[in-house]
Amino acid sequence: MTTPPFDPPTDRDIAIVSAQLGRPARDVIGISARCICGAPTVVSTAPRLADGTPFPTLYYLSHPAATAAVSTLEATGVMPELAALLVGETADAYLAAHRSYLADRNGIEFVAELDGISAGGMPSRVKCLHALVAHALAAGTGVNPIGDRALELAAWSPMVCECVDYGVSAGAAVADRGAAIGGAAVGGASARDAAHDGRVDA
Ligand SMILES: [Zn+2]
Repeated sequence: MTTPPFDPPTDRDIAIVSAQLGRPARDVIGISARCICGAPTVVSTAPRLADGTPFPTLYYLSHPAATAAVSTLEATGVMPELAALLVGETADAYLAAHRSYLADRNGIEFVAELDGISAGGMPSRVKCLHALVAHALAAGTGVNPIGDRALELAAWSPMVCECVDYGVSAGAAVADRGAAIGGAAVGGASARDAAHDGRVDA
């Protein structure tokens, strides 16, 4: 788990993330969580992309097995159950998680268009478990109560490596080959991107 400031990602990290996403990873500023094998699990992206677009999702779940497990969890209809937990201390903790997320992102760059907007439905709703699990993985247990709970419920664990061969050799970036392999393997992640990517209607 890693919150800012991040070490710069390596070329190999970028190649693996590109393979995981099935498209070239751009504006990556750090790897905020990793599989036990070292492969990126959560990727951090600049709050404002190089083309000027505001990007609220500081912590983005990139690992194909993790995204698939969280998509499956979302499909079970667990989100209303998780939202129902948002009372009392858990609601307070979720608000604190929202503020922590904003503080992390604003510490990198304050983007006026994103002022007060975090991710995943925080601080009062549960809209995207991918974003909440990514935050939980980056920040560590005890920061995001809904992300922590979703991670417990998901059929994926950061302690078990389920990485495919990303087609990226040790110490070398083979982005094109990796992207081709990843593109075939992570169709679920691409569909999820369409649903959640860049969503700012908190
Ligand atoms: Zn792994």
